[in-house]
Amino acid sequence: MNEIKKIFNKLIKPFPIEFKLKGLNTSVFGGFATYILKWSKKLKCEADTSETIELVKQLEDIFSNYKDVTLDERYEKLEAGVKVVNKLGQKIYRQKIFKLKNNKLKKVKRKKSKVKQSNKRKSNNVQLTSQAKKLPDFWEQEVRYVKGVGEYWAKRLNKLEVSQVSDLLYYFPRDYNDWSQRKKIADLTAGQEVTVQGKVVNINQISPRQGLKIVKVGISDGTGTLYGVWFNQAYRKKYFRKRKGEVFLFSGEVKYNYGRLEINNPHYEELGGENLHTGRIVPVYPTTKGINQKKLRTIISNALDKHGDQIPEFLPDFIIKKYNFSNFATALADIHFPDRKEDLKQARKRFAYEELFILQLGLALKKEGVKEKVAGTKHNGGQELVKEYLQQLSFELTSAQKKVWKEIKADMGSIDQMNRLLQGDVGAGKTVVATLALLRAVGSRFQGALMAPTEILAEQHYLGLKEDLEPLGISVGLLVGSLTDKEKEELVTKIEAGEIDVVIGTHALIQEGINFEQLGLVIVDEQHRFGVRQRATLQEKGDMPDVLVMTATPIPRTLALTVYGDLDVSVIDELPPGRKPVVTEWRTQQARPKLYSFIRDQVQEGRQAYVVCPLVEESEKLNVESATEVFLRFKEEIFPNLKLGLLHGQLKATEKEEVMESFRKGEIDILVSTTVIEVGVDVPNATIMVIEDAQRFGLAQLHQLRGRVGRGKYQSYCILVSDPKTDEGKERMRIMTESNDGFVIAEEDLKLRGPGEFFGTRQHGMPDLKVADIIRDQKILEKAREDAFEVVYNDPKLEKGKHRLLKKFLMKSFNYDFELIDIS
Ligand code: ADP
Ligand code: MG
Repeated sequence: MNEIKKIFNKLIKPFPIEFKLKGLNTSVFGGFATYILKWSKKLKCEADTSETIELVKQLEDIFSNYKDVTLDERYEKLEAGVKVVNKLGQKIYRQKIFKLKNNKLKKVKRKKSKVKQSNKRKSNNVQLTSQAKKLPDFWEQEVRYVKGVGEYWAKRLNKLEVSQVSDLLYYFPRDYNDWSQRKKIADLTAGQEVTVQGKVVNINQISPRQGLKIVKVGISDGTGTLYGVWFNQAYRKKYFRKRKGEVFLFSGEVKYNYGRLEINNPHYEELGGENLHTGRIVPVYPTTKGINQKKLRTIISNALDKHGDQIPEFLPDFIIKKYNFSNFATALADIHFPDRKEDLKQARKRFAYEELFILQLGLALKKEGVKEKVAGTKHNGGQELVKEYLQQLSFELTSAQKKVWKEIKADMGSIDQMNRLLQGDVGAGKTVVATLALLRAVGSRFQGALMAPTEILAEQHYLGLKEDLEPLGISVGLLVGSLTDKEKEELVTKIEAGEIDVVIGTHALIQEGINFEQLGLVIVDEQHRFGVRQRATLQEKGDMPDVLVMTATPIPRTLALTVYGDLDVSVIDELPPGRKPVVTEWRTQQARPKLYSFIRDQVQEGRQAYVVCPLVEESEKLNVESATEVFLRFKEEIFPNLKLGLLHGQLKATEKEEVMESFRKGEIDILVSTTVIEVGVDVPNATIMVIEDAQRFGLAQLHQLRGRVGRGKYQSYCILVSDPKTDEGKERMRIMTESNDGFVIAEEDLKLRGPGEFFGTRQHGMPDLKVADIIRDQKILEKAREDAFEVVYNDPKLEKGKHRLLKKFLMKSFNYDFELIDIS
């Protein structure tokens, strides 16, 4: 976006509020009029036409004596000012900026700007414009028009999410059978995967026992006889009887059965025409009941026959050349019906790249789009607050914290919208950094919102921030699902009126009906627990607020590029000083007595312990029961002299608060809990984390749980009580005892479980890749990313020549939403 737009956007920003305040001149710190005059001056410097300069001068005239006149006169001036702003809008954006509705000044939605073709063309290279810019018509045609489909099969295809011709062409095989090897019957040996051609010579059915009918069809090629064998498929008998004497191809794995050569359930087809099901590398499609492989192959082949040569290349030429890819049409034909293994390899190479390229292109556009949009929020106040807060902290920021704060501060202070991911292992001290950001926002007269995934964590943040910020004159509110309607209503009104500066909450924050007066900063804690969509919803509650998302799940770089590819990243790569690495031990059930006496010793020394109960995946209720059971046993039998607490998801919010509060105060020695404490909870005096049946937890979760201890100056311990039955379970225990480093754990986790599982159901934003494999194709991913960002850098809206085809492809075929790419 050019400078003039940026400045203009800044200039117009406070108008609606000043309007609402009916000319109090307080909508901006330092005075509305002063602000307008300042930005008018800047605008004048950048203005490129005399008309614009003239309009800006009018604005200056109007507001030069604003603060000296009566409120009524100021209101008139505001109205006059809006008129001029609208005229300026016509010059700068070709549209009005504001309209008055019900006495409120509303911003007019900005039309998508149409690019002036004539100008753009000139700068284009001719080669690009000469190529196809449109997707071919058949691309979006309904699949039922493909030969062999019709209404009946179209319905079944729809169930496979195939509704257009393009979906069908992109319905890639999940596997292939290589039956390209053709053999004479005399040369067959058992175990070979082959295709044999022969004349149908006999058809028999035997019934060796009740309920079992076996059809055997013999084909002969002059060198011998081979039998196709089917079980309980009597209709095969009828089919082949009619075709006795005709030539067929049988494909499959050859077996010996009492000296006879047989293929069980052979794939077969008549000789003649193009072979799709035998005698070649045969595609195997993912399918469900209702449509079989043969049908799929036939219609996909029909679609390729009809449209195959009308498919234009949409990847930029430089990419095709650079990697020596097959062109689109060839690659499509080869991924479905490759003639040679080598062709298939080539096609897969292209599509793996294409998939990742399209994905990264979406991210690149999104990132660029953010920059392009109306300028974000500039937070340049709050220095004093930050200083005061830092002075009363009992510790010094680590240099890693200082570094990331510098990055965040720079983002916040600029007019561009911040979109930053703050990564830092558990216990790295992200909250302090988030607090600094909130202080800046509030000091710049904006509101800040902090969203956390659990009530317990939201509550903890609330208590902490309240204690730290209220003395600085900042009001803090907590919005969680468990508030009564009345409490909620009160809070919502205050938020809307701007009486609350910092709002902390769970998902409750993003509900309808919660509006901010002036939301300038959005922070999402433990981002990996939320979906992409949720982050965006919160963000939409402000007018281009700055966004900071935090996560302790250190995801491997390749995944980060994919899932958070549109964000800038800051990393806290250092723990606060004096932290002793948590000692992690793996113990079997037999070691319990020792474990108990160890806990007693620690409590004796004033420390506290968590005991996390086994995870019962099936139901929350069972989790609660198991936690309750452990709690009672510990309380009555094992630790009768200690103070125990119980925490689980089904307690009322107030009860949870009470338990956490007592634990924080040290009134509870041992807290028995479900995984509700998994993320974020911070009680530095707790030094023992016992995880029962630890093999039931994933590595990421174990690492998060372990992160609840080792947060203070005391040596901490994580004890995994576990008798894993599987190798993977043992492997996880080993990894946990060997490493404290979140990145190492994450890499191992990814290796053990693969990306789908790694992200689990909660972790949205992970694209569903058909050809590419994020781990295997790491190098391709990096290349595709570079290329995609280069393309977008040179042509941010993809409107140059051939890029338009690429963009259409991106939007139509993959349902990309340019505002927000929610690939989950
Ligand atoms: P996380 O990054 O896991 O969210 P927290 O922000 O909860 O970590 O911080 C963990 C603990 O470390 C807290 O008790 C916090 O007060 C403390 N802490 C944070 N920064 C520092 C620091 N620079 N020096 C000492 N302790 C710190
Ligand atoms: Mg945290």
